Amino acid sequence: PILKVALMGLGGYAERVAEAMQSCQRAKVTGLISGTPEKLEKWGKKYGVPKESRYNYENFDQIKDNPEIDAVYIITPNALHHGQTLRVAKAGKHVICEKPMAVSVREGQEMVDACEAAGVKLLIGYRMRFEPNTLKVHAMRESGELGKIKFFQGQTGFKIGDPNQWRVDKTLAGGGSLMDIGIYAINGARYMVGEDPIWVTAQETKTNPEIFKEGVDETIQFQLGFPSGAVASCLSTYAMDHLDRFYLLGEKNFVEMQPSTNYGPIKGRTKDGSLNQPHTVHQTTQMDEMAQIILDGKSPIIPVDGNVGVQDMKIIEAIYRACETGQRQELDLG
Ligand code: NAD
Repeated sequence: PILKVALMGLGGYAERVAEAMQSCQRAKVTGLISGTPEKLEKWGKKYGVPKESRYNYENFDQIKDNPEIDAVYIITPNALHHGQTLRVAKAGKHVICEKPMAVSVREGQEMVDACEAAGVKLLIGYRMRFEPNTLKVHAMRESGELGKIKFFQGQTGFKIGDPNQWRVDKTLAGGGSLMDIGIYAINGARYMVGEDPIWVTAQETKTNPEIFKEGVDETIQFQLGFPSGAVASCLSTYAMDHLDRFYLLGEKNFVEMQPSTNYGPIKGRTKDGSLNQPHTVHQTTQMDEMAQIILDGKSPIIPVDGNVGVQDMKIIEAIYRACETGQRQELDLG
């Protein structure tokens, strides 16, 4: 069977997803949700979504009566994910929600609970967890090829453009670079090291308080400690371009990836040579895999469920607390 997906929020990333989904084997765009009638018309025609399956933010609860929609992919500004997930779950449809899943641990947990109560799945749009070179490194670590893991470095950032966009508006973004792009370094630290961190320290620097107002972080450096004794050192920023690098060091080998999280092709090398998995369009692979998770009960190699998202929110909140207090924060991801 094919997973019938409604896209919610027809912005920049949704467009990339819609294009990529044209090549999916197991998923298809069958619904659209937007506040802009012209977009619904244009996208409806382009992707073959009939009028009956186009909705706005007032009436989308009606998807509950639409058998042409199995799941909603929420691709709106971060602070809206929580309320929208609760409504989709109530309508009895599966939820695929973009990262960060929410803007707080409390909201994230409510989303997990609501989906569980409604008997629907909740998956987070963590596309790197299906990327072939990333999975190759994961397999190398699991097989012991890298030796005992000692150190991870994750550096993710870009220069924010338009100072009026939602990404630098605390009420819509929930924070700054950490929520948006630093989350890739947090994710990387977890799936590359293969453990959950038990403490975090962090330092914030702000060079432009006009753009990056109170509660919107520009640059944060953070460090994570893991139960094995492995450590991670990461940088998240909205003030530097060309920053997209992972470095994983084990006792037997290292892996350096650059780019490590952009739309690819993802490149990397070990001391023995280049990573050479074929490039796939991330969003095509992600949606085909998510269709199998939802429809066939397949277990992904690296999990993408709501609980993982909540754990990431716990790390994000701890990093913000560490910045504020200057104190190391102990973590219990449960
Ligand atoms: P965007 O600004 O291009 O699109 C956001 C869309 O939401 C717009 O169409 C906008 O009209 C709509 N919207 C609905 N209600 C809104 C409101 N109240 N205020 C403002 N906009 C509203 O942003 P984007 O880059 O598409 O990001 C959307 C989400 O996708 C974010 O959560 C972001 O973190 C995530 N994202 C993920 C990836 C990835 O690689 N996984 C990449 C980019 C963005």
